[in-house]
Amino acid sequence: MSFQSTGEMKQLALERGIPLWQAVMEADAEEQDITPEASMEKMRFIWEAMKDAIRGYDPNMLSRSGLVGAEGGKMEQYAALGDTFCGPFVSKIVARALMMGCSNACMRRIVAAPTAGACGVLPALLYTCWEERDCSDEEIVHALYACAGFGQVIANRASISGAQGGCQAEIGSAAAMGAVALVALKNGTPEQMEDACAMALKNLMGLVCDPVAGLVEVPCVKRNVIGAMDALSAGDMALAGIHSTIPADEVIDTMGRVGNAMSPRLKETAKGGLAISPTAKAFTARWKAGEE
Ligand code: SF4
Repeated sequence: MSFQSTGEMKQLALERGIPLWQAVMEADAEEQDITPEASMEKMRFIWEAMKDAIRGYDPNMLSRSGLVGAEGGKMEQYAALGDTFCGPFVSKIVARALMMGCSNACMRRIVAAPTAGACGVLPALLYTCWEERDCSDEEIVHALYACAGFGQVIANRASISGAQGGCQAEIGSAAAMGAVALVALKNGTPEQMEDACAMALKNLMGLVCDPVAGLVEVPCVKRNVIGAMDALSAGDMALAGIHSTIPADEVIDTMGRVGNAMSPRLKETAKGGLAISPTAKAFTARWKAGEE
């Protein structure tokens, strides 16, 4: 699965007369020298692991620093009251994105998609579509292939690492992949997937990586929510026929350039951004002294 451009993916699908997700799946099988069925089995395993991760969330846990853990449960309880601005479907996505971010911070099993810090975006979207929109397991697995293909292009042309490209490369990439997955679930076209990817990535362009005390907790957990919301709106815009003026590959290249131009202080070093706010500095000092 070493696509260098979204155009390459589309071309392969066109040449073989198959959907884009299948082109990504076949390319994966060929690269790994396994059968298509074996590749599918691996993707089914990933999907089941995402489901397990959501079901395994424990609202009573707390991260080692004590900064996060209960947020997913709080949001779920609040959503259950039925009076959220976001409505039931979106509120569940918010809660689940928080749950996965908290689970990661609490060392629970999660699926890094594409990274551990951004592990909440895809499961929150896909699990909620599976549960609330009657998307089948097979449809979700197909959507995972489509978004994995786009994730590969992002990794090849730019980065999916906060240390290399800032949070735009982690949460931004997850949002772009999530937007593609949503379009795939609605049988959107490859061009709509490109638009969804481009719009989601553009909307988080420039987002810095600034974890408080260097822990993947604050602001990471809540950024998973904004990644999921970005994916939802970008997916819907693409399905509505709204185009990204800048094509997906060019947006990805731009994200890479922006990441390269970012100060190292804003790339996971905890030397800039929120990590050096007075509250964060005070917490970090206590944490390092072993008081937290
Ligand atoms: S702030 Fe940095 S560590 Fe946290 S999710 Fe974003 S990229 Fe990952």
